[in-house]
Amino acid sequence: MSDDDPIEMTPTVSCSRCDREWELSYELDDQAAGNRALEQFALDHQRHTGHYPDEVTPWIANCRHCPAGERFLAERPARRFARTHARHTGHELTLQPPDSETDERIEPPVEP
Ligand SMILES: [Zn+2]
Ligand SMILES: [Zn+2]
Repeated sequence: MSDDDPIEMTPTVSCSRCDREWELSYELDDQAAGNRALEQFALDHQRHTGHYPDEVTPWIANCRHCPAGERFLAERPARRFARTHARHTGHELTLQPPDSETDERIEPPVEP
């Protein structure tokens, strides 16, 4: 693969609730990263419509002690957010994976 190749498959996102489909090509050009473009699109869509596009399920990190909470489309940043918040605030968080009913508890580290 070379950078001169045209993108053969334009990534698209569809939402059955909106009955719409979007191409992410220009966002790809903008951000030069497909996953980020999809993630950003999904988060923007949720912010504006209250729901996620099809086939997008977030990791949800929520603090049990304060209003802090974020949604992520990947485990690693969700986990990092939860651990970081716990470490800096001493708060306990819940981390809910996509398609799971079970919350994982993220507890603050115990300082020696
Ligand atoms: Zn929608
Ligand atoms: Zn907190």
